[in-house]
Amino acid sequence: MKTIAKTKLIAFLEALSDDYRVVVPLQQGTEVEMGELDGGRLAVGYRGKTRFSAKECLFPESEVMLTFDNRGAGAVETTEHTPAEKTAVWGVRPCDLAGMATLDAVFLSPPVDTYYYARRANTLLLGLNCHEVGTSCFCRSFAAGPFASSGFDMIFTDVAERFLVESGSEVGARLLEQHGELFAEAGEADRQEAESLRLAAETAFTTTLDVPALLVALQEAFDDGVWEEQAKKCTLCGTCCIVCPTCHCFNVEDVRKTRKLFQRVRYWDSCQFTGFTRMAAENSRSTQGERWRQKIYDKFVYLPAVYDGLLGCTGCGRCLDLCQGNINIVQVLEKVSHGH
Ligand code: SF4
Ligand code: SF4
Repeated sequence: MKTIAKTKLIAFLEALSDDYRVVVPLQQGTEVEMGELDGGRLAVGYRGKTRFSAKECLFPESEVMLTFDNRGAGAVETTEHTPAEKTAVWGVRPCDLAGMATLDAVFLSPPVDTYYYARRANTLLLGLNCHEVGTSCFCRSFAAGPFASSGFDMIFTDVAERFLVESGSEVGARLLEQHGELFAEAGEADRQEAESLRLAAETAFTTTLDVPALLVALQEAFDDGVWEEQAKKCTLCGTCCIVCPTCHCFNVEDVRKTRKLFQRVRYWDSCQFTGFTRMAAENSRSTQGERWRQKIYDKFVYLPAVYDGLLGCTGCGRCLDLCQGNINIVQVLEKVSHGH
């Protein structure tokens, strides 16, 4: 275990930028959002979570997959846009690291998503433990936080003027070696401080979810009136899926750039949109209650059934913060778990 002074963090990130595109939390007015390294706005000691999750680093909001060029004299030329850029993401919260484990399961299980695979293989994840818990955070209910135990190349813990740093992979260990002049050996006092921060954070949650009770209750809740009841408040905006670190649905479209140039593009979709399951003959989920139920069942029943118990929620709390219909997912799920 090592330490790095907060004043030296920027030097470390700048050194990384020789080999990687570096993405960090940036101060944007009163919010913190992930973006390309900008020393002036780097949110070194930010509290809580970023407004949007860090999933965009592995699964961008939109991306060009293929280009079809028919401008030449011969056959149509097809180019596949496999991502090759190396990226290092610093400051990823434990709830987002856990979300990436869900994305990995979905995109890297056969049939492997080649675009996600390439980006994942080229991405370094430098996590940042949470020592201050937000009012909407409930990651502890999923053992996804406030401190991360896996899923990172390096993990940082904020201890006053410095960070404690541990590697979680060979690449992380190599980076610590390579930039050894910026890091110092951690002492027993550093370790104890981090441990007391962890214990304090674990007891600071004001939002919790009884996940085992929910998983049992959902077995009998498919026809519960709660789904249509919540749907009355839902504005169908899709924000809950956009901000969620585990939501991974996308749409694919062929876009005409010019008469002879086309691009195949994919972009995030949401099961809360009315057109999500619309087909030529009919829409298999025609009411918002059905769409709301689908979101919950996908996260807590269908995904774990396919991916060995892995849940589609990490308790990040973003959908509580940003729901345009003021729906509190935890209150809804607690109602389901404990029979209204
Ligand atoms: S469902 Fe809500 S609380 Fe759970 S991970 Fe997604 S955005 Fe976060
Ligand atoms: S964020 Fe809220 S209002 Fe918007 S689709 Fe999701 S549940 Fe509905």
